[in-house]
Amino acid sequence: MDFALNEELTLVRDMARSFAEAELLPRATRHDRQGTLDREVFEKLRELGLWGLTIPEEYGGAGLGNLALAVVLEEVNRACASTGVTLSVHNSLIGAPLRKFGSEAQRREWLPRLSSGEVIGAYCLTEPNAGSDAGALRTSARIDGDDFVVNGTKVWVTNGGWAGLFLVYVRTEPGTSRAKGISALLVPGDSPGIQVGKPEKKCGIRGSSTTEVEFSNVRVPRSNLLGSLNDGFRIAMDTLDGGRIGIASQAVGIGRACLEAAIKYSKEREQFGRPIGEFQAIQWKLADMATRLDAARLLVMKAAWMRDRGERSSQAAAEAKLFASQTANFCADESLQIHGGAGYTDHFHVERLFRDARITEIYEGASDIQRIVIARAITAR
Ligand SMILES: Cc1cc2nc3c(=O)[nH]c(=O)nc-3n(C[C@H](O)[C@H](O)[C@H](O)COP(=O)(O)OP(=O)(O)OC[C@H]3O[C@@H](n4cnc5c(N)ncnc54)[C@H](O)[C@@H]3O)c2cc1C
Repeated sequence: MDFALNEELTLVRDMARSFAEAELLPRATRHDRQGTLDREVFEKLRELGLWGLTIPEEYGGAGLGNLALAVVLEEVNRACASTGVTLSVHNSLIGAPLRKFGSEAQRREWLPRLSSGEVIGAYCLTEPNAGSDAGALRTSARIDGDDFVVNGTKVWVTNGGWAGLFLVYVRTEPGTSRAKGISALLVPGDSPGIQVGKPEKKCGIRGSSTTEVEFSNVRVPRSNLLGSLNDGFRIAMDTLDGGRIGIASQAVGIGRACLEAAIKYSKEREQFGRPIGEFQAIQWKLADMATRLDAARLLVMKAAWMRDRGERSSQAAAEAKLFASQTANFCADESLQIHGGAGYTDHFHVERLFRDARITEIYEGASDIQRIVIARAITAR
Protein backbone atom coordinates (compact mmCIF):
# COMPACT_ATOMS: atom_id res chain seq x y z
CA MET A 1 0.00 0.00 0.00
CA ASP A 2 2.83 2.35 0.82
CA PHE A 3 3.38 3.31 -2.82
CA ALA A 4 -0.05 4.96 -2.89
CA LEU A 5 0.49 7.02 0.27
CA ASN A 6 1.86 10.54 0.17
CA GLU A 7 3.78 12.01 3.10
CA GLU A 8 0.64 13.18 4.92
CA LEU A 9 -1.12 9.82 4.63
CA THR A 10 2.04 7.99 5.72
CA LEU A 11 2.14 10.15 8.87
CA VAL A 12 -1.56 9.51 9.52
CA ARG A 13 -1.05 5.76 9.01
CA ASP A 14 1.95 5.68 11.39
CA MET A 15 0.08 7.66 14.04
CA ALA A 16 -2.95 5.34 13.80
CA ARG A 17 -0.74 2.24 13.90
CA SER A 18 1.16 3.25 17.03
CA PHE A 19 -2.07 4.30 18.75
CA ALA A 20 -3.80 1.03 17.81
CA GLU A 21 -0.86 -1.12 18.93
CA ALA A 22 -0.41 0.73 22.23
CA GLU A 23 -4.02 1.41 23.23
CA LEU A 24 -6.37 -0.92 21.34
CA LEU A 25 -4.56 -4.23 20.90
CA PRO A 26 -4.14 -4.72 24.68
CA ARG A 27 -7.85 -3.94 25.19
CA ALA A 28 -9.39 -5.90 22.31
CA THR A 29 -10.00 -9.12 24.24
CA ARG A 30 -11.45 -7.17 27.17
CA HIS A 31 -13.75 -5.19 24.86
CA ASP A 32 -14.96 -8.48 23.40
CA ARG A 33 -15.57 -10.09 26.79
CA GLN A 34 -17.12 -7.13 28.60
CA GLY A 35 -19.39 -6.27 25.64
CA THR A 36 -18.44 -2.60 25.59
CA LEU A 37 -15.46 -0.31 24.95
CA ASP A 38 -13.33 1.08 27.76
CA ARG A 39 -14.32 4.68 28.51
CA GLU A 40 -10.67 5.74 28.06
CA VAL A 41 -10.82 4.73 24.39
CA PHE A 42 -13.35 7.48 23.66
CA GLU A 43 -10.98 10.01 25.24
CA LYS A 44 -7.91 8.70 23.38
CA LEU A 45 -9.78 8.90 20.06
CA ARG A 46 -10.62 12.51 20.94
CA GLU A 47 -7.00 13.36 21.78
CA LEU A 48 -5.90 12.08 18.37
CA GLY A 49 -8.68 13.88 16.51
CA LEU A 50 -10.06 10.63 15.10
CA TRP A 51 -13.73 11.39 15.79
CA GLY A 52 -13.50 14.31 13.39
CA LEU A 53 -10.98 12.94 10.92
CA THR A 54 -13.04 13.82 7.84
CA ILE A 55 -14.83 16.88 9.27
CA PRO A 56 -13.50 20.21 7.89
CA GLU A 57 -11.08 22.14 10.10
CA GLU A 58 -13.47 25.11 10.37
CA TYR A 59 -15.80 22.81 12.34
CA GLY A 60 -13.05 21.46 14.58
CA GLY A 61 -12.15 18.38 12.51
CA ALA A 62 -8.90 17.26 10.89
CA GLY A 63 -10.18 18.05 7.40
CA LEU A 64 -8.88 14.83 5.84
CA GLY A 65 -10.59 12.67 3.23
CA ASN A 66 -11.79 9.13 2.67
CA LEU A 67 -8.29 7.87 1.84
CA ALA A 68 -7.06 8.99 5.26
CA LEU A 69 -10.11 7.44 6.91
CA ALA A 70 -9.47 4.14 5.09
CA VAL A 71 -5.85 4.10 6.22
CA VAL A 72 -6.82 4.84 9.84
CA LEU A 73 -9.64 2.29 9.88
CA GLU A 74 -7.39 -0.49 8.60
CA GLU A 75 -4.98 0.12 11.48
CA VAL A 76 -7.71 0.50 14.13
CA ASN A 77 -9.57 -2.63 12.97
CA ARG A 78 -6.37 -4.68 12.79
CA ALA A 79 -6.23 -4.12 16.55
CA CYS A 80 -9.90 -3.92 17.61
CA ALA A 81 -12.85 -4.23 15.24
CA SER A 82 -15.31 -3.12 17.94
CA THR A 83 -13.57 0.25 18.14
CA GLY A 84 -13.27 0.22 14.36
CA VAL A 85 -16.98 0.04 13.60
CA THR A 86 -17.77 2.65 16.26
CA LEU A 87 -15.39 5.07 14.57
CA SER A 88 -16.40 4.15 11.03
CA VAL A 89 -20.13 4.72 11.61
CA HIS A 90 -19.51 8.01 13.46
CA ASN A 91 -17.30 9.42 10.69
CA SER A 92 -18.78 8.02 7.51
CA LEU A 93 -22.48 7.61 8.32
CA ILE A 94 -23.03 10.76 10.46
CA GLY A 95 -20.21 13.28 10.05
CA ALA A 96 -20.04 12.83 6.27
CA PRO A 97 -23.75 13.34 5.40
CA LEU A 98 -24.01 16.25 7.83
CA ARG A 99 -21.07 17.89 6.10
CA LYS A 100 -22.43 17.13 2.63
CA PHE A 101 -26.18 17.72 3.01
CA GLY A 102 -26.45 19.82 6.18
CA SER A 103 -27.40 23.51 6.29
CA GLU A 104 -24.81 25.90 7.66
CA ALA A 105 -26.79 26.13 10.92
CA GLN A 106 -26.88 22.32 11.25
CA ARG A 107 -23.16 22.07 10.57
CA ARG A 108 -22.36 24.73 13.17
CA GLU A 109 -24.60 23.04 15.71
CA TRP A 110 -23.36 19.46 15.34
CA LEU A 111 -20.01 19.12 13.55
CA PRO A 112 -17.79 20.64 16.31
CA ARG A 113 -19.35 18.30 18.89
CA LEU A 114 -19.03 15.30 16.57
CA SER A 115 -15.39 16.26 15.89
CA SER A 116 -14.51 16.30 19.58
CA GLY A 117 -16.43 13.11 20.35
CA GLU A 118 -18.61 15.02 22.84
CA VAL A 119 -21.49 13.72 20.73
CA ILE A 120 -21.36 10.23 19.15
CA GLY A 121 -23.45 9.66 16.05
CA ALA A 122 -25.74 6.76 15.05
CA TYR A 123 -27.38 5.96 11.71
CA CYS A 124 -30.93 4.60 11.87
CA LEU A 125 -32.12 3.08 8.60
CA THR A 126 -32.87 -0.60 9.32
CA GLU A 127 -36.23 -1.69 10.77
CA PRO A 128 -37.61 -5.11 11.71
CA ASN A 129 -39.21 -5.45 8.24
CA ALA A 130 -36.80 -3.28 6.27
CA GLY A 131 -33.27 -4.69 6.12
CA SER A 132 -31.81 -5.19 2.64
CA ASP A 133 -35.07 -3.69 1.40
CA ALA A 134 -34.48 -0.39 3.21
CA GLY A 135 -37.07 1.39 1.06
CA ALA A 136 -39.78 -0.56 2.90
CA LEU A 137 -39.20 1.43 6.11
CA ARG A 138 -42.28 2.51 8.06
CA THR A 139 -41.04 4.85 10.80
CA SER A 140 -43.10 7.97 10.22
CA ALA A 141 -42.62 11.70 10.76
CA ARG A 142 -45.75 13.80 10.58
CA ILE A 143 -45.56 17.57 10.40
CA ASP A 144 -47.26 19.29 13.35
CA GLY A 145 -46.78 23.08 13.40
CA ASP A 146 -43.04 23.77 13.43
CA ASP A 147 -42.15 20.20 14.37
CA PHE A 148 -41.87 16.70 12.98
CA VAL A 149 -43.38 14.03 15.23
CA VAL A 150 -41.48 10.75 14.84
CA ASN A 151 -42.93 7.30 15.56
CA GLY A 152 -41.40 3.91 14.85
CA THR A 153 -38.71 1.38 15.70
CA LYS A 154 -35.20 1.07 14.31
CA VAL A 155 -33.09 -2.05 14.87
CA TRP A 156 -29.40 -2.99 14.90
CA VAL A 157 -28.36 0.60 15.54
CA THR A 158 -24.57 0.78 15.90
CA ASN A 159 -23.59 3.29 18.64
CA GLY A 160 -27.23 3.20 19.80
CA GLY A 161 -26.20 2.87 23.45
CA TRP A 162 -24.00 5.95 23.51
CA ALA A 163 -25.35 8.17 20.72
CA GLY A 164 -26.00 11.87 21.27
CA LEU A 165 -27.30 12.28 17.72
CA PHE A 166 -29.43 9.90 15.65
CA LEU A 167 -29.69 10.33 11.90
CA VAL A 168 -33.13 8.78 11.39
CA TYR A 169 -34.70 7.87 8.06
CA VAL A 170 -38.47 8.38 8.19
CA ARG A 171 -41.48 8.32 5.92
CA THR A 172 -42.70 11.89 5.54
CA GLU A 173 -45.18 11.27 2.75
CA PRO A 174 -47.98 9.02 4.09
CA GLY A 175 -49.20 6.39 1.65
CA THR A 176 -45.96 6.27 -0.36
CA SER A 177 -43.95 3.11 -0.61
CA ARG A 178 -40.41 2.19 -1.52
CA ALA A 179 -37.83 4.92 -1.86
CA LYS A 180 -40.28 7.75 -2.42
CA GLY A 181 -41.48 9.87 0.51
CA ILE A 182 -38.50 9.18 2.78
CA SER A 183 -36.65 11.99 4.58
CA ALA A 184 -33.56 12.20 6.81
CA LEU A 185 -33.97 13.78 10.24
CA LEU A 186 -31.40 14.82 12.84
CA VAL A 187 -32.78 13.64 16.18
CA PRO A 188 -30.87 14.71 19.34
CA GLY A 189 -30.24 11.77 21.67
CA ASP A 190 -31.84 13.51 24.64
CA SER A 191 -35.20 14.11 22.91
CA PRO A 192 -38.14 12.94 25.06
CA GLY A 193 -39.76 9.76 23.72
CA ILE A 194 -36.57 7.93 22.67
CA GLN A 195 -36.17 4.50 24.20
CA VAL A 196 -32.85 2.73 23.63
CA GLY A 197 -33.07 -1.07 23.94
CA LYS A 198 -30.71 -3.49 25.63
CA PRO A 199 -27.36 -4.19 23.93
CA GLU A 200 -27.67 -7.04 21.40
CA LYS A 201 -25.62 -10.14 22.24
CA LYS A 202 -23.59 -10.57 19.08
CA CYS A 203 -21.37 -13.23 17.51
CA GLY A 204 -18.53 -10.72 17.04
CA ILE A 205 -17.65 -7.01 17.38
CA ARG A 206 -19.05 -7.51 20.87
CA GLY A 207 -17.44 -4.38 22.29
CA SER A 208 -19.46 -2.18 19.92
CA SER A 209 -22.92 -0.96 20.86
CA THR A 210 -25.83 -2.39 18.84
CA THR A 211 -29.35 -1.65 20.06
CA GLU A 212 -32.95 -1.20 19.07
CA VAL A 213 -34.14 2.42 19.24
CA GLU A 214 -37.81 3.21 19.62
CA PHE A 215 -39.24 6.65 18.82
CA SER A 216 -42.60 7.43 20.44
CA ASN A 217 -44.02 10.84 19.55
CA VAL A 218 -40.51 12.32 19.43
CA ARG A 219 -40.73 15.99 18.45
CA VAL A 220 -37.92 17.60 16.49
CA PRO A 221 -38.02 21.06 14.90
CA ARG A 222 -38.60 21.16 11.14
CA SER A 223 -35.17 22.79 10.89
CA ASN A 224 -33.70 19.35 11.77
CA LEU A 225 -34.56 18.02 8.31
CA LEU A 226 -31.30 17.02 6.58
CA GLY A 227 -31.38 17.99 2.90
CA SER A 228 -34.76 18.35 1.20
CA LEU A 229 -38.11 16.87 2.16
CA ASN A 230 -38.60 13.38 0.65
CA ASP A 231 -34.98 13.22 -0.54
CA GLY A 232 -33.86 10.98 2.32
CA PHE A 233 -33.45 7.71 0.42
CA ARG A 234 -30.92 9.31 -1.93
CA ILE A 235 -29.04 10.65 1.12
CA ALA A 236 -29.13 7.22 2.78
CA MET A 237 -27.71 5.49 -0.32
CA ASP A 238 -25.05 8.12 -1.01
CA THR A 239 -23.99 7.91 2.62
CA LEU A 240 -23.71 4.11 2.42
CA ASP A 241 -21.37 4.46 -0.57
CA GLY A 242 -18.96 6.14 1.86
CA GLY A 243 -19.75 3.83 4.77
CA ARG A 244 -19.03 0.74 2.68
CA ILE A 245 -15.47 1.98 2.09
CA GLY A 246 -15.15 2.13 5.89
CA ILE A 247 -16.41 -1.44 6.31
CA ALA A 248 -14.14 -2.63 3.51
CA SER A 249 -11.21 -1.02 5.38
CA GLN A 250 -12.39 -2.80 8.52
CA ALA A 251 -12.32 -6.08 6.61
CA VAL A 252 -8.77 -5.46 5.36
CA GLY A 253 -7.68 -4.65 8.93
CA ILE A 254 -9.21 -7.84 10.35
CA GLY A 255 -7.81 -9.91 7.46
CA ARG A 256 -4.33 -8.49 8.01
CA ALA A 257 -4.47 -9.37 11.70
CA CYS A 258 -5.41 -12.94 10.70
CA LEU A 259 -2.48 -13.18 8.28
CA GLU A 260 0.00 -11.79 10.81
CA ALA A 261 -1.20 -14.21 13.50
CA ALA A 262 -0.92 -17.11 11.03
CA ILE A 263 2.65 -16.19 10.02
CA LYS A 264 3.72 -15.95 13.66
CA TYR A 265 2.11 -19.25 14.66
CA SER A 266 3.43 -21.12 11.62
CA LYS A 267 6.98 -20.18 12.64
CA GLU A 268 6.48 -21.23 16.27
CA ARG A 269 4.46 -24.43 16.02
CA GLU A 270 6.47 -27.54 15.25
CA GLN A 271 5.11 -30.85 13.99
CA PHE A 272 6.96 -33.72 12.31
CA GLY A 273 10.19 -32.19 13.61
CA ARG A 274 9.92 -28.79 11.96
CA PRO A 275 7.92 -25.53 12.03
CA ILE A 276 4.60 -26.05 10.23
CA GLY A 277 5.42 -22.94 8.15
CA GLU A 278 7.97 -25.04 6.29
CA PHE A 279 5.21 -27.19 4.81
CA GLN A 280 4.21 -25.96 1.39
CA ALA A 281 0.51 -26.43 2.20
CA ILE A 282 0.83 -23.76 4.90
CA GLN A 283 2.94 -21.46 2.72
CA TRP A 284 0.32 -21.53 -0.01
CA LYS A 285 -2.38 -20.54 2.43
CA LEU A 286 -0.25 -17.58 3.58
CA ALA A 287 0.46 -16.59 -0.03
CA ASP A 288 -3.24 -16.66 -0.95
CA MET A 289 -4.14 -14.59 2.10
CA ALA A 290 -1.47 -11.98 1.35
CA THR A 291 -2.44 -11.73 -2.33
CA ARG A 292 -6.15 -11.31 -1.65
CA LEU A 293 -5.45 -8.74 1.07
CA ASP A 294 -3.29 -6.64 -1.26
CA ALA A 295 -6.00 -6.78 -3.93
CA ALA A 296 -8.70 -5.86 -1.39
CA ARG A 297 -6.69 -2.89 -0.15
CA LEU A 298 -6.23 -1.61 -3.69
CA LEU A 299 -10.00 -1.75 -4.25
CA VAL A 300 -10.52 0.18 -1.00
CA MET A 301 -7.96 2.80 -2.05
CA LYS A 302 -9.55 3.16 -5.48
CA ALA A 303 -13.04 3.69 -4.04
CA ALA A 304 -11.78 6.16 -1.42
CA TRP A 305 -9.76 8.06 -4.02
CA MET A 306 -12.79 8.30 -6.34
CA ARG A 307 -15.01 9.55 -3.51
CA ASP A 308 -12.42 12.14 -2.49
CA ARG A 309 -12.46 13.42 -6.10
CA GLY A 310 -16.23 13.75 -5.96
CA GLU A 311 -16.74 10.98 -8.53
CA ARG A 312 -19.69 8.60 -8.34
CA SER A 313 -18.32 5.71 -6.32
CA SER A 314 -21.27 3.29 -5.77
CA GLN A 315 -19.80 0.53 -7.91
CA ALA A 316 -16.25 0.98 -6.62
CA ALA A 317 -17.44 1.01 -2.99
CA ALA A 318 -19.60 -2.09 -3.53
CA GLU A 319 -16.72 -3.94 -5.21
CA ALA A 320 -14.36 -2.99 -2.38
CA LYS A 321 -16.83 -4.10 0.30
CA LEU A 322 -17.77 -7.34 -1.46
CA PHE A 323 -14.20 -8.42 -2.10
CA ALA A 324 -12.66 -7.16 1.15
CA SER A 325 -15.33 -8.76 3.35
CA GLN A 326 -14.98 -12.09 1.56
CA THR A 327 -11.21 -11.77 1.96
CA ALA A 328 -11.53 -11.09 5.70
CA ASN A 329 -13.58 -14.25 6.12
CA PHE A 330 -11.21 -16.26 3.93
CA CYS A 331 -8.22 -15.07 5.98
CA ALA A 332 -10.01 -15.72 9.29
CA ASP A 333 -10.89 -19.25 8.21
CA GLU A 334 -7.39 -20.06 6.94
CA SER A 335 -5.70 -18.49 9.96
CA LEU A 336 -7.87 -20.48 12.36
CA GLN A 337 -7.08 -23.64 10.40
CA ILE A 338 -3.34 -22.93 10.61
CA HIS A 339 -3.71 -22.54 14.39
CA GLY A 340 -5.28 -26.01 14.57
CA GLY A 341 -7.14 -26.88 17.79
CA ALA A 342 -5.59 -23.91 19.60
CA GLY A 343 -7.23 -21.59 17.09
CA TYR A 344 -10.63 -22.86 18.08
CA THR A 345 -10.09 -21.77 21.69
CA ASP A 346 -9.58 -18.38 23.27
CA HIS A 347 -5.88 -19.12 23.75
CA PHE A 348 -5.29 -17.09 20.59
CA HIS A 349 -7.13 -14.00 19.35
CA VAL A 350 -7.76 -15.59 15.93
CA GLU A 351 -10.98 -16.98 17.48
CA ARG A 352 -12.20 -13.39 18.06
CA LEU A 353 -11.03 -12.31 14.60
CA PHE A 354 -13.01 -15.19 13.08
CA ARG A 355 -16.18 -13.92 14.81
CA ASP A 356 -15.43 -10.26 14.06
CA ALA A 357 -14.83 -10.90 10.34
CA ARG A 358 -18.31 -12.39 9.84
CA ILE A 359 -20.24 -9.15 10.19
CA THR A 360 -18.36 -7.42 7.36
CA GLU A 361 -20.36 -9.51 4.84
CA ILE A 362 -23.65 -8.47 6.43
CA TYR A 363 -23.90 -4.85 7.56
CA GLU A 364 -24.10 -1.76 5.34
CA GLY A 365 -25.51 -4.06 2.69
CA ALA A 366 -25.01 -7.83 2.64
CA SER A 367 -22.79 -9.31 -0.10
CA ASP A 368 -25.82 -10.11 -2.27
CA ILE A 369 -26.81 -6.45 -2.17
CA GLN A 370 -23.28 -5.37 -3.20
CA ARG A 371 -23.59 -7.73 -6.19
CA ILE A 372 -26.91 -6.11 -7.11
CA VAL A 373 -25.31 -2.63 -6.96
CA ILE A 374 -22.38 -3.75 -9.13
CA ALA A 375 -24.56 -5.61 -11.65
CA ARG A 376 -26.91 -2.62 -11.99
CA ALA A 377 -23.99 -0.27 -12.60
CA ILE A 378 -22.31 -2.40 -15.24
CA THR A 379 -25.49 -3.30 -17.12
CA ALA A 380 -26.83 0.27 -17.13
CA ARG A 381 -23.90 1.50 -19.23
C1 LIG B 1 -24.02 -5.73 14.25
C2 LIG B 1 -24.90 -4.99 13.30
C3 LIG B 1 -24.81 -3.61 13.21
C4 LIG B 1 -25.66 -2.90 12.35
N1 LIG B 1 -25.61 -1.53 12.34
C5 LIG B 1 -26.57 -0.84 11.66
C6 LIG B 1 -26.68 0.58 11.79
O1 LIG B 1 -25.89 1.22 12.48
N2 LIG B 1 -27.71 1.21 11.14
C7 LIG B 1 -28.60 0.53 10.38
O2 LIG B 1 -29.50 1.16 9.83
N3 LIG B 1 -28.50 -0.82 10.21
C8 LIG B 1 -27.52 -1.52 10.85
N4 LIG B 1 -27.42 -2.89 10.72
C9 LIG B 1 -28.37 -3.57 9.84
C10 LIG B 1 -27.71 -4.18 8.62
O3 LIG B 1 -27.34 -3.19 7.71
C11 LIG B 1 -28.69 -5.23 8.07
O4 LIG B 1 -28.63 -6.33 8.97
C12 LIG B 1 -28.35 -5.66 6.66
O5 LIG B 1 -28.59 -4.61 5.76
C13 LIG B 1 -29.16 -6.89 6.22
O6 LIG B 1 -30.50 -6.75 6.53
P1 LIG B 1 -31.27 -7.93 7.33
O7 LIG B 1 -30.45 -8.27 8.51
O8 LIG B 1 -32.66 -7.50 7.55
O9 LIG B 1 -31.22 -9.16 6.34
P2 LIG B 1 -32.28 -9.48 5.17
O10 LIG B 1 -32.50 -8.27 4.34
O11 LIG B 1 -33.46 -10.14 5.76
O12 LIG B 1 -31.46 -10.51 4.29
C14 LIG B 1 -31.35 -11.90 4.64
C15 LIG B 1 -30.54 -12.58 3.54
O13 LIG B 1 -31.24 -12.47 2.28
C16 LIG B 1 -30.39 -11.89 1.32
N5 LIG B 1 -31.15 -11.04 0.41
C17 LIG B 1 -32.02 -10.05 0.73
N6 LIG B 1 -32.51 -9.48 -0.38
C18 LIG B 1 -31.94 -10.10 -1.44
C19 LIG B 1 -32.01 -9.95 -2.84
N7 LIG B 1 -32.78 -9.02 -3.42
N8 LIG B 1 -31.27 -10.76 -3.62
C20 LIG B 1 -30.48 -11.72 -3.07
N9 LIG B 1 -30.35 -11.90 -1.75
C21 LIG B 1 -31.07 -11.10 -0.95
C22 LIG B 1 -29.36 -11.08 2.11
O14 LIG B 1 -28.16 -10.91 1.39
C23 LIG B 1 -29.17 -11.96 3.34
O15 LIG B 1 -28.23 -12.95 3.06
C24 LIG B 1 -26.56 -3.61 11.54
C25 LIG B 1 -26.63 -5.01 11.61
C26 LIG B 1 -25.83 -5.69 12.48
C27 LIG B 1 -25.96 -7.17 12.57
